Amino acid sequence: MKTIGLIGGMSYESTVTYYNVINSTINNTLGKHHSAKILMYSVDFEEIYYFMQKKDWDNAANILIDAARKLEKGGADFILICTNTLHLVYDKVQQSVSIPLLHIADALIGKLKRDKVDSVLLLGTKTTMLQHFYTDKLSCDKIQVLLPSVEQMDKLDGIIFDELCVGNINEKSKKELLSVMSSAMEKGVKACVFGCTELGLLVSKNDTDLPVYDTAIIHAITAADMAVLQ
Ligand code: GLU
Repeated sequence: MKTIGLIGGMSYESTVTYYNVINSTINNTLGKHHSAKILMYSVDFEEIYYFMQKKDWDNAANILIDAARKLEKGGADFILICTNTLHLVYDKVQQSVSIPLLHIADALIGKLKRDKVDSVLLLGTKTTMLQHFYTDKLSCDKIQVLLPSVEQMDKLDGIIFDELCVGNINEKSKKELLSVMSSAMEKGVKACVFGCTELGLLVSKNDTDLPVYDTAIIHAITAADMAVLQ
């Protein structure tokens, strides 16, 4: 079995999802008492958030590069950056190590293709929704990306950083997210991507009729499969 390197802590709340899903997927696949071989470097998110707010992506990348190098030295076979937004600096981090980084959008695209989904509502931080690093990747694979209104984007971004990243699960915010999803459904949207690793902490598949693609779960399952199958 391969050793999975996780760059976690972005936020620590969603890194728990990765740890649980990777281990349960590997146990379901291999049975007995099998669990995952994981090395984790969990960052202090405040240090990264400081640079993110200034849009100082080079310094945000430097923190992830340091983490990736430590994971490589520690014996990880491949690495996951456990968040969507910081995939903005994916190329820089990948260039700094010689082991592969499993891109979260590649894991998502694989799942969408298997399910024959070619159009999605993308929900995440404003950076993920508005900068092209994420939407272009989906568009290149012929997946149409629909976005919420600017007002809804602002609300979502606030919910993610001010509440979910610090463990605050708020009923009003859950209703807010569900209403963004139901208004999209009324406009004909057929599937929704949680392009933020914390959104699944607020709304589960059972809360909505809209099929949900939760990137934290998809990324984690893809990593678990890679660890045991390749
Ligand atoms: N984890 C979130 C994401 O998937 C947002 C917090 C962050 O920027 O890391 O984009």
